[in-house]
Amino acid sequence: MHLARFPRVRLGHMNTPLELLPRLTEALDGPEIWIKRDDCTGLSTGGNKTRKLEFLMADALAKNADIVLTQGATQSNHARQTAAAAAKLGLKCHILLEDRTGMTDISYKENGNVLLNNLHGASMEHRGPGLDMNAEMEDAAENFRKEGLNAYTIPGGGSNSIGALGYANCAQELIVQSTEMGHAIDHIVHATGSAGTQAGLIVGLKALNAQIPLLGIGVRAQKEKQEENVYNVAVETAKKLGCDGIVNRQDVVANCDYVGPGYGFPAQSTLEAIDIFARLEGILLDPVYSGKGGAGLIDLIRKKHFKRGQRIVFVHTGGAIALAGYLNSFRS
Ligand SMILES: *Cc1c(COP(=O)(O)O)cnc(C)c1O
Repeated sequence: MHLARFPRVRLGHMNTPLELLPRLTEALDGPEIWIKRDDCTGLSTGGNKTRKLEFLMADALAKNADIVLTQGATQSNHARQTAAAAAKLGLKCHILLEDRTGMTDISYKENGNVLLNNLHGASMEHRGPGLDMNAEMEDAAENFRKEGLNAYTIPGGGSNSIGALGYANCAQELIVQSTEMGHAIDHIVHATGSAGTQAGLIVGLKALNAQIPLLGIGVRAQKEKQEENVYNVAVETAKKLGCDGIVNRQDVVANCDYVGPGYGFPAQSTLEAIDIFARLEGILLDPVYSGKGGAGLIDLIRKKHFKRGQRIVFVHTGGAIALAGYLNSFRS
């Protein structure tokens, strides 16, 4: 694996810190819990999409794009980070937002990530639920091309083999940090959605032969479907890196027991995880992704799936700006 061979624009603050969570560790009385602060990537309140966009936007620039398009749910963190990246690079940005939840309150529709999309100068249009959003986006891109613009489309979550390079890079960064600290990692846990984060991490870990198992906590799809999505992106990413065949289907493990009422709806366990991280560690999780990842981590420690004597790294994928879009979930 030699990531310097791929075009990359620097957008984020890296390396992100790897820190112990002493009070959470003590409260749960189980494994030592560490956190990889990818919520601190720096670009417009940070998050995991910044690493992917370093490779995706470099590809857009190499192809002389004037405008980038992407799509996501109304409170998409990916859309917001894409809008910020485009602003920084002087490109136009157009976003298609899917009303996946049907929530109608003004905080959800206009605050949080939506407010930031506006501040970064992105144009937005809306779609009802259940459409093929990548196809909708390709149609929108065709319209820009008819106007003479060179449009570059980024799939939902930036999850293709180009974006996943950002998380192969994160795996490498994490292994170097762990080596320098002299702290071996027994397991990595993070929230998994459009699959690129988990796919990239798996490919990076396998390419380095790190032998660290990884668990994705699902936020939308069922286990079988989620694992298949991750596996497919991982296989493509390994191919791109010249390590064809390093990823086995059994390397891909997702636990989708913490989705709760569905994508974009925090479960009781999500709200509890947000509360615990905020009060014990001063760390903000989000109601759609990292809160569910945190809920899975906490529950699997309580159930002794992760045990005392182990060292777990929770990759914090960001998203806390969406808290501002979920005012109703936190009213007592
Ligand atoms: C997108 C996102 C994820 C999931 O990452 P994928 O690469 O889409 O699987 C997790 N957490 C946050 C905050 C996100 O925005």
